Amino acid sequence: MVFVGFGITAPEFEYDDYAGMDVEGKVVIVLRREPQQNDAKSKFNGTQNSSYAYFTAKELNASLHKVAGLILVNDAQTAEGSGGDQIMKVAEAGAALNRTKVPTIFCSRSIIDPLVKKSTGKSLSELQAEIDASGAPKSIVLKDVKAIGEVEIVSKDLIARNVVGFLPGTGALAEEFVVVGAHYDHVGMGGPGSLAPGTIAVHNGADDNGSGTTALLEVARHLSKDQSPSRRGIIFIAFSGEEKGLLGSKHYVRSPRWPLEKTVTMVNMDMVGRLNDGAITVYGTGTAEGFDSLMDKLNETSKFRLDKQPAGFGPSDHSSFYEFDIPVFHFFTGLHNDYHRPSDDPDKVNVEGMQQIADMVKRLVIDLATRSDRPKLLKISDVADVGRANARPRVTLGIQMDTNSEAVLVESVAEGSGAAAAGMIKGDTIIKIGDTTVANAREMRRALGSKKAGDTIEITVRRGTEEVKLQVKLGSS
Ligand SMILES: [Zn+2]
Repeated sequence: MVFVGFGITAPEFEYDDYAGMDVEGKVVIVLRREPQQNDAKSKFNGTQNSSYAYFTAKELNASLHKVAGLILVNDAQTAEGSGGDQIMKVAEAGAALNRTKVPTIFCSRSIIDPLVKKSTGKSLSELQAEIDASGAPKSIVLKDVKAIGEVEIVSKDLIARNVVGFLPGTGALAEEFVVVGAHYDHVGMGGPGSLAPGTIAVHNGADDNGSGTTALLEVARHLSKDQSPSRRGIIFIAFSGEEKGLLGSKHYVRSPRWPLEKTVTMVNMDMVGRLNDGAITVYGTGTAEGFDSLMDKLNETSKFRLDKQPAGFGPSDHSSFYEFDIPVFHFFTGLHNDYHRPSDDPDKVNVEGMQQIADMVKRLVIDLATRSDRPKLLKISDVADVGRANARPRVTLGIQMDTNSEAVLVESVAEGSGAAAAGMIKGDTIIKIGDTTVANAREMRRALGSKKAGDTIEITVRRGTEEVKLQVKLGSS
């Protein structure tokens, strides 16, 4: 085992806890946070956390040094603080990591300290005090100590069900199918997936996705009366497990009840309850020939302020079908401050708007189910292609994000960019775009989707323990 201080390699500060240490195949002991955290003049961002303080940074650095395992312990200040020497929960201390494969445990100082002291003659606190005093690493091999460990992750299997209804086809087209879907699960009483961490309260999910499931029933009710002499079968699916990673729709496309090669289009509704000023986004308009103009045609009656997005991949169940080469549509009325919070309640839902959307979806599904030729798939490989296909400038902030972080953690800021001019710095975490809370890169891109290059927008970042508002002028790429 090797004690490697704070586990930080920071070339710009000429500080490297791993310098000269042979850690390949060894288990490293790493303190939380960073050197000199009580010193306002510390090169590690004074008394605030620099980006090196994050678990993700420490784990990534450990994996780059090819360690066999990582043991995190509280730093002295944290252990002596009001919370004491508390072990962090998995969700707090690294659940967001998916790139590194380093077995990581969080250990009490009362277990690690005697080992370190017996082998090196110094306690964890003494070693940290030496680092803090000198500003230089004090890494040391624990000579007579070996670590043998086993980590057991207890997973809990639950049964969840997709709910499927079927309207059989008629005439010549009866052996082909259209899927209409909406997920019916939400984030329960909070916990992972909630944007109100710490609260234990029913998250009703009236918009996400009570609205979509209600619209699904309305579309099914209407279409059940359809008398077309020749019509494809219509499969109505209320998916479960969407919030856990599109689990229900992924299950369906892997074990479909009706053949996927005969499934001509999937139409998804996820969050259609907040129609505001007639503005709706319809994704998937680039996934088959003629889908773009089809939406325009349907909108002559609906008269929405229609934002057509060609992308077939996205953060809802339609994505699972597009992956299997099925053209898709996805209806969405936009994010809001109640998203994934206990306050996503029915009184804020625009029921009349849902009716209008359900009406458009009915007419869309009838068109898809009765046209003689099935829609011809267009394949869009990724989101970047969508940007090009869309042929309108994509907006940029001028930052690189830390891809190991679930949150929008700024890894670097481009010189001369809007973000740089606004004072954004490495280590900031973007938490809001305008009034819209963003928890990850996907949500940020979605929030920026409606903005134009040249717009100045307010971006709220978390910097250490503070929230800072920045006015950022958007560039284009
Ligand atoms: Zn949803």
